[in-house]
Amino acid sequence: MRSVAVVGAGLAGVTTAYELAALGFKVQVFERGGSVAEQASFASSALLSPYLPDLTDASIPAPLGFRLRRWRAGRKGGDAASQLAALSLLSLARTAELRRELGLDDEPSQGLLIALTDAKRFAAAEARLEGWKTLGVQVELIEAGEARLREPGLNAEAPLCAALALSHGGTGNARLFAQQLRQQAQRRGASFRFHSTVRAIAVDGAGLTLRYEYTPPMEAPTRGSEREAGDTLPQLLGPQDARFDAVVLCNGLEASALLGQRLPLSAQHEASVTAPLRLLEAHPDLGPKAGWVDPSRGLAVTRTGQRVRVTGGLAVTDARARVSPDFEALHRGLQHWFPGSVLHSQVQQGQSRRALSADGLPLLGASSRAGLWLNLSTGGQGWGLACGSAQVLAQLIAGQAPAQDIGALGQQRLA
Ligand SMILES: Cc1cc2nc3c(=O)[nH]c(=O)nc-3n(C[C@H](O)[C@H](O)[C@H](O)COP(=O)(O)OP(=O)(O)OC[C@H]3O[C@@H](n4cnc5c(N)ncnc54)[C@H](O)[C@@H]3O)c2cc1C
Repeated sequence: MRSVAVVGAGLAGVTTAYELAALGFKVQVFERGGSVAEQASFASSALLSPYLPDLTDASIPAPLGFRLRRWRAGRKGGDAASQLAALSLLSLARTAELRRELGLDDEPSQGLLIALTDAKRFAAAEARLEGWKTLGVQVELIEAGEARLREPGLNAEAPLCAALALSHGGTGNARLFAQQLRQQAQRRGASFRFHSTVRAIAVDGAGLTLRYEYTPPMEAPTRGSEREAGDTLPQLLGPQDARFDAVVLCNGLEASALLGQRLPLSAQHEASVTAPLRLLEAHPDLGPKAGWVDPSRGLAVTRTGQRVRVTGGLAVTDARARVSPDFEALHRGLQHWFPGSVLHSQVQQGQSRRALSADGLPLLGASSRAGLWLNLSTGGQGWGLACGSAQVLAQLIAGQAPAQDIGALGQQRLA
């Protein structure tokens, strides 16, 4: 049996570990934190969306260098966007399959609407509609009245021109999904080593040597009370070496150091506010039913179980910089679309950052170093892409024909 190490236990790492274990690999996951999905995967907006090229606003604050790289990447074009659209559809299907076959319950809901708040946005969406359909995405333009029927909690006073409806899309609690899939991976023999930071990876003709070290919980505290059965703490404090046939880097912004090459990744910051849904018998339609995206305000409002989450305030910086989140803007956005829908007693506010490549697409596939693979789900679609990316990557590592060609999503396109 071939052995594979997975670095990072966010959504990318957990899904990769599961798919590899399901194909019969001996899998060892290394995570510097105390549990799965503690970083970018912690407070995802919950949107499971097919990829729609050119939908996002180009007005997100970003340094000049990043804008230049994005402009160059846009000029290159190529197959990447169409491969990503196909991968996103495969991924949504794989997520549904795993939920069904493994009995995972991550509080899913079906349906995703994108607000078109004015005539300009409507015209832009209309012009792109056929192109999106050609990519295989099931998307329709619906009138404002129809959108309000599908999301009856929408503020009747909030101006709305029309909406895009994505029937393949939906929502789900990414963290819950990762926790449940981790257990399934463990049942298939994968083991998870927490509080373990991978410091270096050396490649030689016979395999890879991975150097890791115990990371005291102070450096990456476990959030909440989620130490789970089966969490492991290494007993030895000094650096340890372990041998593997292959290593998959699923550690986002930190991947460059282990790859030994500088990947042109920026940090994309996003803030989130999560609050309990207000449950009133007289107003059963408060809050969103599923996912509601407003590109004009740069925010998404989603429902997972009995909670509402609003995310937004996107900003791009270099990998180390920090930005101050504007939580007030998120509260205002929620009040604008779904007034009075949440309780303000147990509000959780947070900010996370994720890796972002110049073209916003993931870095997926073999790296330039033998035996070292990349699953860096950059950009804002990492939850939607996680299951499909992991499935295809595991098939490639196993030497099988992949369910989807991802040749254009590799490291070489950023060279
Ligand atoms: C606020 C917000 C909202 C989002 N909303 C959506 C959405 O609605 N839909 C969607 O599809 N996507 C969304 N995303 C994106 C998605 O959540 C991310 O793309 C995805 O979670 C990234 O997963 P990951 O496993 O690559 O990264 P992470 O979850 O960050 O995992 C990387 C892990 O690697 C570990 N690590 C790093 N270095 C090392 C090392 N040297 N040794 C050991 N461990 C290491 C870290 O501790 C971390 O746990 C959102 C992201 C954010 C931040």
